[in-house]
Amino acid sequence: MRLFKRILIANRGEIAVRIIRACHELGIETVAVYSDVDRDSLHVRLADEAICIGPAELSQSYLNIPAIISAAEITDSEAIHPGYGFLAEDAHFAEACIASKITFIGPTPENIRTGGDKAKARHIMKKKGIPVVPGSDGPVETEEEALRAAKKIGYPVILKASAGGGGKGMRIVNNEDELAQQYHTAQQEALSAFGNAELYIEKYLPEIRHVEVQIIADDSGRIVHLGERDCSIQRRHQKLIEEAPFIFSTSRLRKRLGEYAIKAASALKYRNAGTIEFIVDKDKNIYFMEVNTRIQVEHPVTEMITGIDIIKEQIRIAAGQPISFKQKEVRFTGHCIECRINAEDPERFIPSPGRITMFIPPGGQGVRVDTAAYSGWNVLPYYDSLIAKLVVHGGDREEAIVKMRRALREFIIEGIKTTIPFHQKVINHPDFISGNFNTHFLDNFNEASV
Ligand code: ADP
Repeated sequence: MRLFKRILIANRGEIAVRIIRACHELGIETVAVYSDVDRDSLHVRLADEAICIGPAELSQSYLNIPAIISAAEITDSEAIHPGYGFLAEDAHFAEACIASKITFIGPTPENIRTGGDKAKARHIMKKKGIPVVPGSDGPVETEEEALRAAKKIGYPVILKASAGGGGKGMRIVNNEDELAQQYHTAQQEALSAFGNAELYIEKYLPEIRHVEVQIIADDSGRIVHLGERDCSIQRRHQKLIEEAPFIFSTSRLRKRLGEYAIKAASALKYRNAGTIEFIVDKDKNIYFMEVNTRIQVEHPVTEMITGIDIIKEQIRIAAGQPISFKQKEVRFTGHCIECRINAEDPERFIPSPGRITMFIPPGGQGVRVDTAAYSGWNVLPYYDSLIAKLVVHGGDREEAIVKMRRALREFIIEGIKTTIPFHQKVINHPDFISGNFNTHFLDNFNEASV
């Protein structure tokens, strides 16, 4: 069966470059879209064609659905890949593509809607017998309801926005007074950030690891999983370093994670690539947390330990083809670590936009750099500060750490500040090296002597 002739990529930065590469290897032409300040960006140069879709403001360019659909129509693009962020989890966008007879490379609008409603997704999983973090039965509509639910669950609890994402809209509350104080502010925050004030409550679990499972599903309903990723190195609930496999995984734990992930995907009638996120506590209990209905930033760590190109699978599945491999053919080799390198001050994490005067990425065996940066490129203040994903693959975790240390040392980025020095500190920290950490590893990290 034939794949697409031409795909439009509704994104920018490293993920647009990553998708263009997959397309070209599949013999598919690519169309880049860009805002007028992004004219010199790498995705524009690498694509076969490029169309300016508006000014820097997101609402007028990368979030401008009519402009993107028109760009696809003008260029005869048969499909759109949304990447991550921007319109990737906007069910209206997926519907607009379908209505315009353009294939949306990703899950169904229904998948996106359910994934975007965390309280609903939790409810579905609970019904299917997948363990969820103890919490409220659905949303808590009033402060009184929130207080009642929290009392039943036991403090501390975490207030979460049903429509939340990217670590935003969450508040940990330790007692009734704090809950009463925070409830309305959290509602307001959720409303202004996500356009939806709905909140739900979960028990706040201490000393946890964030472990997620990559899944892929095709039109025939076949679902496979590509093992787990440990994303516990977080700052303000946002991932900074990811690795695969989870070092304390056992064949039993991996089997259970895989079974839950497939069951979750099946309950959602999931299509294309997605991630099922779990919490693993120190006694190895697993709890479902949420579904991410997109390709994720950290997908390369899974690609490097499995040898499977997830973006190519996404494209094939969107074209109606079956998954190109069987579950039993998935092999996990070695260990992989990814550092997200941001254009930020490494101490205070304040964005550091500006011109990169020198950019020399590391190389060598087992080193992959996914980036759209180059010497002379201007890091723009309007967009995400992620400028490179440095991914290394070693025979085991120890070798991966040595490789990461070497690669971080080699990486030259001049003209702006980056988080490379921060990653060097983490990689050399005894608790990181021993694997003995949880999601609080970075609390007070920069103040601590390392
Ligand atoms: P988002 O969609 O905003 O990323 P998640 O639900 O995925 O939100 O949670 C982000 C992070 O917050 C998790 O990786 C974990 O570190 C922390 N977290 C979420 N829920 C809990 C919980 N119930 N107990 C402890 N930590 C939690």
